Amino acid sequence: MKTVLKYYRKYWYLIIISLAFLAGEAICELQLPSYMSGLLENGVGASDMAVIWSYGWKMILLSVTACVCAVTVGFLSSIIGSKISRDLRFDVFSQVMNFAGEEYNKFSVSSLITRSTNDITQIQMLTIITLRLIMFAPIMGIGGSIMAVEYSGGISSLAWVIAAAILIIIVLIVIALTIVQPKFTKMQKQIDRVNQIAGDELNGMMVIRAFNTQEYEEEKFDKANAELTRTSIFTSRMMALLMPLMTVVMNAIMLTIVWIFAGYVEDFSQIANMVAFMQYALQVIMSFMVISMIFLVLPRARVSINRISEVLNTPISIKNAKGKEESTGQRFKGDVKFESVSYGYGGGALAVENISFEAKSGQVTALIGSTGSGKSTVVSLLPRLMDVTSGKITIDGIDIRDINIKDLRNNIGFVPQKNILFSGNIASNVGYGLDNATEQELQKAVEIAQASEFVNLGEKGFEKEISQGGANVSGGQKQRLAIARAISKKAPIYVFDDSFSALDFKTDAKLRQALAEEMGDACVIIVAQRVGTIKNADRIIVLDDGKVVGDGKHRDLLKTCKTYLDIAKSQLSEEELDL
Ligand code: ADP
Ligand code: MG
Repeated sequence: MKTVLKYYRKYWYLIIISLAFLAGEAICELQLPSYMSGLLENGVGASDMAVIWSYGWKMILLSVTACVCAVTVGFLSSIIGSKISRDLRFDVFSQVMNFAGEEYNKFSVSSLITRSTNDITQIQMLTIITLRLIMFAPIMGIGGSIMAVEYSGGISSLAWVIAAAILIIIVLIVIALTIVQPKFTKMQKQIDRVNQIAGDELNGMMVIRAFNTQEYEEEKFDKANAELTRTSIFTSRMMALLMPLMTVVMNAIMLTIVWIFAGYVEDFSQIANMVAFMQYALQVIMSFMVISMIFLVLPRARVSINRISEVLNTPISIKNAKGKEESTGQRFKGDVKFESVSYGYGGGALAVENISFEAKSGQVTALIGSTGSGKSTVVSLLPRLMDVTSGKITIDGIDIRDINIKDLRNNIGFVPQKNILFSGNIASNVGYGLDNATEQELQKAVEIAQASEFVNLGEKGFEKEISQGGANVSGGQKQRLAIARAISKKAPIYVFDDSFSALDFKTDAKLRQALAEEMGDACVIIVAQRVGTIKNADRIIVLDDGKVVGDGKHRDLLKTCKTYLDIAKSQLSEEELDL
């Protein structure tokens, strides 16, 4: 609650202004019935046209003022609501941007999307209703009560009528709330679920078609959708029921008031009193009804507020060390060292254990091992996509946790195993993250990555569009563009996580040769599954089940490391093995 409340402080002046207009509107509305009573008693009662006109003009003026105030408040509250939801959306987004894998896993992607859209809209609605109604209702309730006493003509039983009406309304609201409140929590979760299934299905459309599982998927979606609909219909029905009930109560009150007054009416002034009293009674009861409406919106918004606060209050696990908050543009030589590094996903069982090796600048260091042996985990620790559970990683002898994160990542050209391109064109993807890359630089990067042929093939060249996620290029082309993207950074350290697997052998060889020529004294870390890719590496680290089981050059490893020999035997012919 406090987390979200903070956002209102920024717009305090707008809130104050809208409250002032609200007060203006309330004062006008509270005056009207009393003028009405005056008009009846002094004007109509005395058949004095001049008095009627003078009251009439004042009443018109009051009505117009009230109307202008109401419109202004509506205008201001919409502005405040939109601004606050914009601020919230921005902060939720930047918070999520800083999430490390661990925090990311805590929420699901679909839930994060619902939270930054639907949940924020709930808060926006609450803001508008609060400003428009919550503040208005108490003023009208209290003001109306005071005025009603004045026009009650000394009939004390009238107070009881109003009190009874309010009591009935409160009871109705409490009953509705206790039934509906738990459903609102459920509803947001069900929206998450529908979003998740829809997202999965849209992303996996090809697989669904290939496996003919449309019906199964449809059923799955249908079930989630039906559940959401049921909850939604239930809450709507409860709300729908409440309104007519309220109207019945109101009408009953009006009748009772007329009935009570009927016993007392002796002259015209009493009728004038009755008219004013009825209107004040209406205002009082209305204000309670409005408050009840807020209690209907509030529970749902409270669920949303909690869900937003949860995201905003999740501590970021990967952050800059004290005193290293500012990027200094530091460049490293590129000597990477892992010292007894262990890491377990989500703090659970260790995925990699006690990893120690050095990757020197000017050398190619290779990581090889079967799938699931922990290669990607090891290299992801270097740009601090996750933080080591124990041990440490240093660059040029400095613990990476003591380096500004921006500087650290600027020093690493990283090609992740799962490549993602962004919507845009080739130039925007290859020059991604660079402020001002020249055409020549991009061309160079693309050449090294062996992508120039395919880039220059199309008539649009670098302007060729890339659709969302890189769906309109082949796996190998995507991989080469991702490599070019990393190379164009001109970093002292490069990490290629299984980046050559989608390339044919010829391109693989050409790319490695180009890398060797162009990388100069950069530190190159290559993760591979093919022995051929890394045979010539200066140093090969063999991983098995999260542990280092071999470390050395190709020829030595063939003799000393059984795991490496097995991998090599399965891929290379006897001559190639060259034992
Ligand atoms: P490799 O790249 O060698 O194929 P990974 O580093 O991707 O292997 O995976 C190593 C181990 O860590 C595997 O057993 C895998 O199940 C686990 N793992 C990988 N990513 C995650 C993740 N995001 N959450 C939990 N466990 C993971
Ligand atoms: Mg991997």
